[in-house]
Amino acid sequence: MRRHRHAKIVATVGPASNTPEMLHTLFLAGVDTFRLNFSHGVQADHARVHAAIRALEQEVGRPIGILQDLQGPKIRIGTVAGGRLQLATGETVRFVLEGADGGKDAIPLHHPEIFAAVVPGQELLIDDGRVRVRVSGLGAGTIEALVVTGGPISNCKGVNLPGTLLDVSPLTEKDRADLAFGLELGVDWVALSFVQKPSDIIEARALIGDRAGLMSKIEKPQALERIEDIVRLSDAVMVARGDLGVEIPHEDVPGRQKELIRLCRHLVKPVIVATQMLDSMVNAPAPTRAEASDVATAIYDGADAVMLSAESAAGQYPVEAVSMMDRIIRSVEGHKLYYSIIAASEPETEETAPHAVATATATLAEAVHASAIVTYTESGTTAARVARKRPRPPILALTPNLATSRRLSLLWGAHSIHTQDVDSYEEMTAKAAHYAQAEGFAKPNDVVVAAAGIPFHVPGNTNNIRLIQI
Ligand code: PGA
Ligand code: MN
Repeated sequence: MRRHRHAKIVATVGPASNTPEMLHTLFLAGVDTFRLNFSHGVQADHARVHAAIRALEQEVGRPIGILQDLQGPKIRIGTVAGGRLQLATGETVRFVLEGADGGKDAIPLHHPEIFAAVVPGQELLIDDGRVRVRVSGLGAGTIEALVVTGGPISNCKGVNLPGTLLDVSPLTEKDRADLAFGLELGVDWVALSFVQKPSDIIEARALIGDRAGLMSKIEKPQALERIEDIVRLSDAVMVARGDLGVEIPHEDVPGRQKELIRLCRHLVKPVIVATQMLDSMVNAPAPTRAEASDVATAIYDGADAVMLSAESAAGQYPVEAVSMMDRIIRSVEGHKLYYSIIAASEPETEETAPHAVATATATLAEAVHASAIVTYTESGTTAARVARKRPRPPILALTPNLATSRRLSLLWGAHSIHTQDVDSYEEMTAKAAHYAQAEGFAKPNDVVVAAAGIPFHVPGNTNNIRLIQI
């Protein structure tokens, strides 16, 4: 079975979608990669979902990606007196390092790294920025702050510190335990939350190695300052607009989204646009006009994938949300302006042989109106380099590596096939022709373009482009 679109869909699994039947329905509706959100649920539940997705993969005969999203160093207040406090604009409150059930003069904040880093004038944003306070004084284990925007705060609400570089590892104790658990299960991607600096990725890579792809969630202004190094060190990127939109002004998020997508395309890393894409579909069977437009914009921006969070994890209309995304993507990709918009944002090609061959492959396939581009790829990079050109023909990525075939379910335009490596030129052409037809991309007399490295079995030596008439 094949999809009739290039961009991919990621859906978060939760109580609304965690049964084998729902996972199957969501896959058929269009999900390419499922996200397990380790900010919620217990390990045993995630293990059950993981097993159900692997069983589904067998049943449908297609590789499916599984993304483990680690909670990361999310900061929360402790418990407050009566479970809830009303902060008034203009009043002064106090946070304390120790204690529980405090009032406005003793709001617990069990995070020593904040007390070590914060200076007067910086802001603490509580509950997704609904309540804002500005630090006015520091004591031993206390922070005094002026309430800039008042409102209610309740137990364990999240806190964001946009202006402060915190001395924390991107992996908490819980993350380390979850990571070990996820790698044991065999997840395809691990997403790191609240990445601040390049060394965060090096630290995580030391633990992950090549057992999973490493995805950096960009949701801190500090990460934007060193973004190029961060993207280079990552295998993929998520534009995590939920927290990013708390930490930087709303009006700056769309521009950052465009920058990040362009940078990732330049550096050949898949990029997901995430959060609130069809948010009103949590409670309604149809999105707002603005939400439909938001999904479309991410596609016109050239994103590899768009993501559903609460819509598929906890909403009332998970299947409708996936179908809606599928329809929006197909409509955009079929629109007469799509390719000219995508081409206008095409990054310059690096002058290296692998990039030049990939670009030539894509250009040739377009010129001859090929039904498909066939790549032979071990790590997936050859397919990704071709995808960077955003060619019209779909990219059949043949790989002997099962993990690669699953990870490719995130890549724009890729239809991955797990198969044995080829040993000869004849076998390569025969296999390209076979799969192009068997997977529903080509019919007799159609042309496909194949890219391969000769001699075979040498990774990273793609040096041959072949036009094949079926
Ligand atoms: P989250 O990440 O859903 O784990 O917070 C995504 C985001 O912040 O947008
Ligand atoms: Mn987040």
